[in-house]
Amino acid sequence: MTGQLDSPAVTSTPTIGVLALQGDVREHLRALEASGARAVPVRRRSELDAVDGIVLPGGESTTIEKLLKIFELFEPLRERIAGGMPAYGSCAGMILLARRVLDGTADQESLAVLDVTVRRNAFGRQVDSFEEDLEAPGLGAGRGEAPIHAVFIRAPWVEEAGPDVEVLARATTPVAAGRIVAVRQGAVLATSFHPELDSDLRVHAAFVRAVRERHTP
Ligand code: GLN
Repeated sequence: MTGQLDSPAVTSTPTIGVLALQGDVREHLRALEASGARAVPVRRRSELDAVDGIVLPGGESTTIEKLLKIFELFEPLRERIAGGMPAYGSCAGMILLARRVLDGTADQESLAVLDVTVRRNAFGRQVDSFEEDLEAPGLGAGRGEAPIHAVFIRAPWVEEAGPDVEVLARATTPVAAGRIVAVRQGAVLATSFHPELDSDLRVHAAFVRAVRERHTP
């Protein structure tokens, strides 16, 4: 474990994996590369061991969870993130990171490395999928800066965040105004929305920066 944590200093180009079992993997690989990382798909243990940080993409959280177990990655991934490896989850990825999941399937299990309660498919039928502009000072979208254009697709929201969790953005759409949609706890970042589906790189850039900081002495 320590060997992995103390990987050599990552200077300008960290290697960041995208969990590639299901979901919008390619979009994340592209956004990470455009943000200055070397981005690689992760499907097996040896690939997981070789990355400095990992992205859990949007998709279907129950399917990704089952595949993680089939590919024997569930426990190793949980251990690495719990041990300090930076992780970023978007949408289904946020659900996978969360400690508590509401409206999950009866046997849904998550990695439980982010101290939040998320509600799956939280926004309801009328707003199954929608887009809105978000203010998020912690992601370079504060007052006087361009807002982040966020795409939500059957998204979860964060119903409750633990004391060590920093709230980065809240929804403004009328049915969900004020609901938490972006959080950070240490090196773990999560968004309800899909920045990988937009050309705005600020969320990925923030994650690449966090990976660099984590590995640069
Ligand atoms: N509703 C999906 C789930 O529960 C998440 C949707 C998404 O990632 N776009 O996993």
